[in-house]
Amino acid sequence: MARKTEPETPAAEPVVYGEPEGGGCDHTGCTNSEAYRCLYRDRRAVDCAWVACKEHLKVVEGRAYCMRHAGIMEVLVLARQQGQDLLPPDLDDRCASLVRAVSQDLNEPVLERLVRWSDTNTSIINDPAIRYTRPDRLHHIPGHWERVWALAARTGLLLRVGLRVEDARPETVVLTGGVTHLVAAVPPWIERRLHGDQYQGSQSELVERLAFQQQLLQALDAYVEKYGVTYPKSLSAASS
Ligand SMILES: [Zn+2]
Ligand SMILES: [Zn+2]
Repeated sequence: MARKTEPETPAAEPVVYGEPEGGGCDHTGCTNSEAYRCLYRDRRAVDCAWVACKEHLKVVEGRAYCMRHAGIMEVLVLARQQGQDLLPPDLDDRCASLVRAVSQDLNEPVLERLVRWSDTNTSIINDPAIRYTRPDRLHHIPGHWERVWALAARTGLLLRVGLRVEDARPETVVLTGGVTHLVAAVPPWIERRLHGDQYQGSQSELVERLAFQQQLLQALDAYVEKYGVTYPKSLSAASS
């Protein structure tokens, strides 16, 4: 009987790379300008901020990661082969962690508002990912981690709500509506830790978090009350 000649590895699928980035490779000393984001996303949906060229990315199971996360992915793949499903461990970034903590508190009330503000022609975008945007000096955009909710119509975004923490001020939470900064504030529990105040117990931290959540939501409500959730005039004219 003819032996089936099966190659050791199946035919190579095209490698999946992350979004291309303009700033070039993050690897020290590398001058390659063609660079992509690491595809690592941790178990809490925080994305890796690292960008590298093909030379400084490593492919694991057809997907390109930075060296550090390629190592982690290899461990996860090995564990899976041994029948153990592990979740990708957390990225250790305090800016991303702060975005995550506050956006968890905000998620339900923001979604509830988006439902209220939407109609049959709009859809709600709720992307749990916490993404990093690299600094853009030309447009005065600082590097920041962000979680986004949005209302969209066929013609584009009607309302974009962003919660971000910028590299340069890792204690400050910024809420944006469209391109407008609605609130930039240090959450009280972070403030307390900055001043080395004593731990007050979980009860008061909960109260602080609720108060902070209300501060952000009120700013969002005021913004929508003022500007509304509507098509830009030219667009609504064009689509009717
Ligand atoms: Zn490189
Ligand atoms: Zn990475």
